[in-house]
Amino acid sequence: MPMISLYDATRADVEAELVGAPRYRIDQVWNGLYSQFLEPHDITTLPAAVRAQLTESFTPALEPKLRTVADDGKTIKFLWRLVDGGHPIETVLMYYDDRATVCVSTQAGCAMACGFCATGQAGFNRHLTAGEIIEQVVRACREARTLERRVDNIVFMGMGEPLANEPAVWGAVERIHGDIGISARHLTISTVGIVPGIRTLATRPLPVNLAVSLHAARDELRDELVPINKRYPIADLLGACHDYLKVKNRRISFEWALIEGVNDTLRDAKELHALSRRLTPTAHVNLIPLNPTPGWPTKGSSRNRVHVFRDTLLEFGTNVTIRSNRGTDIAAACGQLAAGQPVRVSAPSARESSTS
Ligand code: SAH
Repeated sequence: MPMISLYDATRADVEAELVGAPRYRIDQVWNGLYSQFLEPHDITTLPAAVRAQLTESFTPALEPKLRTVADDGKTIKFLWRLVDGGHPIETVLMYYDDRATVCVSTQAGCAMACGFCATGQAGFNRHLTAGEIIEQVVRACREARTLERRVDNIVFMGMGEPLANEPAVWGAVERIHGDIGISARHLTISTVGIVPGIRTLATRPLPVNLAVSLHAARDELRDELVPINKRYPIADLLGACHDYLKVKNRRISFEWALIEGVNDTLRDAKELHALSRRLTPTAHVNLIPLNPTPGWPTKGSSRNRVHVFRDTLLEFGTNVTIRSNRGTDIAAACGQLAAGQPVRVSAPSARESSTS
């Protein structure tokens, strides 16, 4: 029988292992794993024999490979090797003054093939299990605890397409909400726009936030930037967003990575505004200058163009914010996660913008 990973194990799995154990014993295990973020051998409320038994039966799914720190200690990137299969995946922990956010991967690699995204450039290996997603959160919580910080928000915006792996992602959502205790309202699932996935998500009970990686508001351009748009064009995507809002009544956000001269013009601002106001409540737009990746020739919009684009949207009356850009120098920023590869930033935006 294949081994169940520590955070894929259900309470029933633990009960089956600790035959005849009283209920409070299972509670101690659960509390150790999900509230104190400990591995079984460190759960000192348990007798040594139980700790040994659990250690033997349920093993962690992630083997730490590398931990890199940036932004004066405020951004930490973890590189893991999946114990099952050996694929590399990444997780990013970001501290802010008033909160901490963890960005988790949902697949090893990605099959969506967005050309500007480092994970998309590298291709797909396999889906992650719920436990492999949960364990990323637990390990980031363990790290935050060393600074007496707690994790407030989880964004499913790391490697992979969450809605191409919806059942495992939902399994992780339930455990993060119910056992770790981070409310569903503080969880955000980001999608490239998998229409059936959005529809499935709408049937799920908890009110998680939905972010749609739009990047273009006309099919002709979006087909180029986000190839899955050919299968799920903007009209269908918007229809699914509309239906999601009807049942969830949470604001949807549109993610927009600004690419100089490609999607940062007045025309794009107009089209984006028109699209965001077709939803009720209107979509919130998150802007971010495109981060450089090795396999994509165009560059992110300059600071000035980002601000002009934002101000134009504001004048139209669109809800918009510019996302802070964490971890660029350690390739931990949006779209830069390409674990296991020596990610070289081939066209540093700072150098280019200082010469142009
Ligand atoms: N597959 C999901 C989640 C992972 S990507 C999705 O597409 O939403 C998380 C976000 O980073 C998405 O909005 C994605 O479009 C964006 N992104 C990818 N590459 C990027 C890059 N090079 N610069 C800035 N954002 C990027």
